Amino acid sequence: MSTLRLAIVGAGPAGIYAADILLKHERSFDVSIDLFDRLPAPYGLVRYGVAPDHPRIKGIINALRDVLDTGDIRIFGNVNFGIDISMDDLKRHYHAVIFSTGAIRDADLDIPGIELEGSYGGADFVSWYDGHPDVPREWPLNAREIAVIGNGNVALDVARMLAKHPDDLLPTEIPDNVYRGLKESPVTDVHVFGRRGPMQVKFTPLELRELGEMNDVDIVLHDEDFNYDDASKAAVESNKQVFVIDKVFSQWRERESGKASRRLHLHFFAKPVEVVGEDGRVSGFRYERTEPDGSGGVRGTGDIREVAVQAVYRAVGYFGSPLKDVPFDDERGVIPNREGRATNAGNEVVPGVYATGWIKRGPIGLIGHTKSDAMETVSHVVRDQSSWWSPSEPSESAVKDLLDSRGIKYTNLDGWRRLDEWEKSLGEQEGRERIKVVPRDDMIAISRGEAL
Ligand SMILES: Cc1cc2nc3c(=O)[nH]c(=O)nc-3n(C[C@H](O)[C@H](O)[C@H](O)COP(=O)(O)OP(=O)(O)OC[C@H]3O[C@@H](n4cnc5c(N)ncnc54)[C@H](O)[C@@H]3O)c2cc1C
Repeated sequence: MSTLRLAIVGAGPAGIYAADILLKHERSFDVSIDLFDRLPAPYGLVRYGVAPDHPRIKGIINALRDVLDTGDIRIFGNVNFGIDISMDDLKRHYHAVIFSTGAIRDADLDIPGIELEGSYGGADFVSWYDGHPDVPREWPLNAREIAVIGNGNVALDVARMLAKHPDDLLPTEIPDNVYRGLKESPVTDVHVFGRRGPMQVKFTPLELRELGEMNDVDIVLHDEDFNYDDASKAAVESNKQVFVIDKVFSQWRERESGKASRRLHLHFFAKPVEVVGEDGRVSGFRYERTEPDGSGGVRGTGDIREVAVQAVYRAVGYFGSPLKDVPFDDERGVIPNREGRATNAGNEVVPGVYATGWIKRGPIGLIGHTKSDAMETVSHVVRDQSSWWSPSEPSESAVKDLLDSRGIKYTNLDGWRRLDEWEKSLGEQEGRERIKVVPRDDMIAISRGEAL
């Protein structure tokens, strides 16, 4: 029986599900899968995106770990495609590659003042509080009043993490430096701005409800946002999710408030106009009041308003990054593809190159969606046997030799288990489930069993 040597680049949920699905897929050949990630630890945004106070979602890591623990997949962590390993290398050692490199950076928001000191990308803040090894350890938390731009789940995560009292985050896996940083924060008011109405938000009811459960944080809503137009009324009646969101808001509007030491304000019908600055630093946020346009959208009213804030976080979406020698769609931030088969500028399928997860579909959707994505992509990999590459050195040892010859300190599954145990024991010492190790060198040393 022939063997498919497959490289998967990106060990987030999309890459791990793709490996799992391929291993279980009906096929007429054996498979040997190598999973590469530029980070020393797997799980992508489940480890470095999902908020630490979402332990149930973080728990998906256990299911992903079960897949890796089958022992049928080799992991090469701390290997950056495009730097440590190239497309030519992959063609020499594999029959095909699936890219599942996700997205880690913020989409742009093109308004004046966005470059001011005190204006941040939500994705960078997420990476900081989730202990991503490639962002600075310190985060400037010196604003009393903060604007968060966006009306999706990430905007709510960012707002919640800014508003929540850090002691309430202690049971989670937040790294020590994050706890200390948040502890210093003088924040009193977090303002969240969305362009559309409360019945057109992109966040899910569960995430919304959670906001109202924060200890010593009042939710502030504005009556003027709740005069529903016909489209909003119809949405409440026809869409269960919108119905629940409406219910949550109604309950909050009747709640007693005014006693909490922190407030989270939700502003709807507020289109970002400008980040206002003074001496090069953020001093305010200007927005235009919008109104329903009758067909589910909004239009500007010319009513310009401003709130005093000392920091602005934009959480208007993530964006994928291009990979060397791999087709890329600059507009959408994805690998252009047809059902997971990469396509070139002429819209022709590129043999041997596949995509799955956020880099295939764009940075929307939950972890579960990456599973159906992977099914589609893998079914093409299986069917395309006649157009796979013909590697000159397909042996499993050749890749290790290559990485060793380049002096790359890669980590493997045993290394991840060591790091996992290490983090859990750090947590145990403080009565917590886990404390994340943040510096990349420490992660690598612990994984490789080297002295710190
Ligand atoms: C802030 C935030 C909160 C979220 N919260 C939730 C939630 O509560 N529930 C939920 O279901 N979903 C949530 N999601 C969505 C979920 O994280 C994504 O659906 C999912 O992670 C996408 O999976 P992926 O594998 O495509 O990408 P990713 O998870 O981004 O994984 C991509 C992997 O590729 C690696 N990689 C990138 N470039 C390279 C390279 N050049 N070489 C080698 N490796 C590379 C990365 O290091 C990473 O490990 C959240 C997302 C964000 C951003």
